[in-house]
Amino acid sequence: MGLQVSGRPRLGISSCLLGEKVRFNGGHKRDRYLTDTLGALCDWVMVCPEVELGLGSPRETLRLVGDPTQPRLHEPATDIDRTRAMHRFAGDRARALRVEGLHGFVFKKDSPTCGMARVKVWHESGGGSERKGVGLFAAAVMKAFPLLPCEEEGRLHDMPLRENFIERVFCYQRWRDSFDKRVRRGNLVAFHTAHKLTLMAHSPVRYRELGRIVAALGTRPLREDIDAYGEQFMEALRLLATRRKHTNVLQHIAGYFKRKIDSDDRTELAGCIEDYHAGSVPLIVPLTLVRHHLRRHPDAWLECQTYLHPYPAELMLRNHV
Ligand code: SF4
Repeated sequence: MGLQVSGRPRLGISSCLLGEKVRFNGGHKRDRYLTDTLGALCDWVMVCPEVELGLGSPRETLRLVGDPTQPRLHEPATDIDRTRAMHRFAGDRARALRVEGLHGFVFKKDSPTCGMARVKVWHESGGGSERKGVGLFAAAVMKAFPLLPCEEEGRLHDMPLRENFIERVFCYQRWRDSFDKRVRRGNLVAFHTAHKLTLMAHSPVRYRELGRIVAALGTRPLREDIDAYGEQFMEALRLLATRRKHTNVLQHIAGYFKRKIDSDDRTELAGCIEDYHAGSVPLIVPLTLVRHHLRRHPDAWLECQTYLHPYPAELMLRNHV
């Protein structure tokens, strides 16, 4: 079945999301989807930057203040500036995470420490705020691991964003499995081949650009090609797969069965793809029919496509997109 992942993905997470009582008010922000569903299939690496910095729980609240591109971390109740201490801690903690072999990170939204985007940054004058900031710890992690799939728990309640994040996590895990220890030309060719339909569902343009890197293998040091491919591959996956692009991929797949199934089955498959395109059925419906035909008419190339098994089926993500 093509490229398999080696074991469960390892995801970093803001500790409060798993129910740890680490918040400023001594409480938590347990997220049931993360603890009960995603947690059943991954291993968590918990971090609470504010508690690990020694601020305790409960503690005074913090806020970002000043220039949104370089905000200060301020504790209004005491007027203490925590910026330098948090920057030093966040850089050290992010580096220490290298040994964890992470495949993704789920951050707590809106936090001046953990928020990935749109965090409130207060004006120095104290009057008003803009949602333009990034939490200091989240910024350090994203800088240390530029390819790492990162998302906030709030956005994971949006089905297409959830599906996109989890697909990226498993793609990144396959990427690390393929290239962390071995650097072989054949591995890159096999990786690109196995992700053809996945890439087409996100961006046919990026798929062709990545194909050019693979076609030119050998003209520069292999490590450079692999790094360039990895960067563009993860960037391509950030583009959301749409119903229209999935439909193109499904029609491409249907082409493989053209001479193998009879005309009634061909009509049924085409109708099913059309129903998906029209929004009457979720993606899982045409894919189930495709898998049925693939069992009866095996095809080595199709079977190796990660598009047909992007993540554990238990997550049931394709029932909702
Ligand atoms: S958002 Fe981050 S810093 Fe705040 S309680 Fe949660 S893990 Fe700790």
